[in-house]
Amino acid sequence: MNLPAPRRLRRTQPLLSVVVPVFNEAAILPEFFKKISVTLNTLDIATEIIFVDDGSDDGSSEVVARLGEKDTRVASVKLSRNFGKEAAMTAGLAHAQGDAIVLIDADLQDPPEEIPRMLAAWQNGGDVVAMQRRHRAGESWLKRASASAFYRLFAKISDTPVPVDTGDFRLLSRRVVDVLLALPERQRYMKALFVWPGFKQVVLRYDRDARVGGESKFNWIKLIGLAMDGITSFSAAPLRLATIVGSFLSLTAFVFALIVIVKTLLLGETVPGYPSLIVCMLMLGGVQLLAIGLLGEYVGRLYIEAKQRPLYVVENFRASQISRLASELKNEAR
Ligand code: UDP
Ligand code: MG
Repeated sequence: MNLPAPRRLRRTQPLLSVVVPVFNEAAILPEFFKKISVTLNTLDIATEIIFVDDGSDDGSSEVVARLGEKDTRVASVKLSRNFGKEAAMTAGLAHAQGDAIVLIDADLQDPPEEIPRMLAAWQNGGDVVAMQRRHRAGESWLKRASASAFYRLFAKISDTPVPVDTGDFRLLSRRVVDVLLALPERQRYMKALFVWPGFKQVVLRYDRDARVGGESKFNWIKLIGLAMDGITSFSAAPLRLATIVGSFLSLTAFVFALIVIVKTLLLGETVPGYPSLIVCMLMLGGVQLLAIGLLGEYVGRLYIEAKQRPLYVVENFRASQISRLASELKNEAR
């Protein structure tokens, strides 16, 4: 089961939590940590860094533990297996104590140097500070083109307006995180969920770097699954499309039938046309299967929602010192 998330502690100073989903990133974690520490040290706000180990098997959790020994700002959440980035981010948000929370990838594709700008936008009243990619380095032409096409299609059909080319790299205010955590859904297409609560949205532009080491954990199958999750949780447009195509085809078939009847009765033409028949049959069969498949995508997701399984399972949690101190103070005050 999900361990109950730590209760929010009363603090007088504002706190920034940085949530980092980690799946087999042992090779780059030390460098990531070094880079982000440099940036966090320049901030005049208390910080904690929450590493969420999403079932890594390359020793990432040992690396995180070692970082935690050296630096009291480090917190760690270890999930019992790989639940996927969306679940890992949710686990991180559930354990974050901050008044503002930044989500950032461990591979340094999201530059930590942008955090001060994001923080400033939050201090100016922003609730969701989304980082929009101006440029994506180190990714194949196909990935860039398909991502770009998907973001634009999604923006057209989604019920929630999601700015194009914004990924998970962003800052969220406490009240947005509280709303997110209260959402019960299992299919978490975070890029749109982040926008769903509303409040003040800010978009900042940045250049996305290439991965510093290791490989992307998303293959094409995972990416297509994520895209389907996104579309099915935020739009019923595909179902509507099936209805529209179905109506159009039925109408065409009806007109065609009339023509055939008129031709046979008035002109006495016998019906030739094996080819047209087989084409019609195949096409109708194809459209029907496609529509059933689309329906299945929605029904399958309903089924998963209905089971109400937890989003992730926490194996262990180690709080950052700042939240531990706050909880001790609170206990003493009792
Ligand atoms: N990640 C994760 N669980 C997964 C896959 C990825 O926590 O199942 C983390 C990964 O460690 C990284 C971030 O999510 O910090 C982004 O992953 P990746 O760089 O592979 O994605 P890409 O940048 O290629 O979209
Ligand atoms: Mg990456």
